[in-house]
Amino acid sequence: MNCDQAREMIPLYAARALPEEDGAALIEHVVGCGVCQGELVETMRLTHELRKAFAQFPGPPKGAWLSVAARTLGAPLLRVGVGSEIAGLTLDVGATKTGVPIMGTLSILGREVPVLRI
Ligand SMILES: [Zn+2]
Repeated sequence: MNCDQAREMIPLYAARALPEEDGAALIEHVVGCGVCQGELVETMRLTHELRKAFAQFPGPPKGAWLSVAARTLGAPLLRVGVGSEIAGLTLDVGATKTGVPIMGTLSILGREVPVLRI
């Protein structure tokens, strides 16, 4: 591996998005290359700082996704939910002027994410 190849991989490695075998090849290069070693250290530091900064932002308020769904699904007709406080799936069926949309919402540890819209 040369320095150009290593520098393309460093951001992916820092983001934990590099396949394991590529990561091993990168580390092998970095161990013997002071320039790339410095770039890897700096990229890891910046990545850590960015993660810390983003962690300070609160997520969407609880129920935000359901609020959006209520606006886009029209009048609620039926709601079915399965799961627990830790993880669950909710299906909402609504009625709009154009049809009967169905929306699925996955909730994990209190965070709700839309996963399905028909
Ligand atoms: Zn290098």
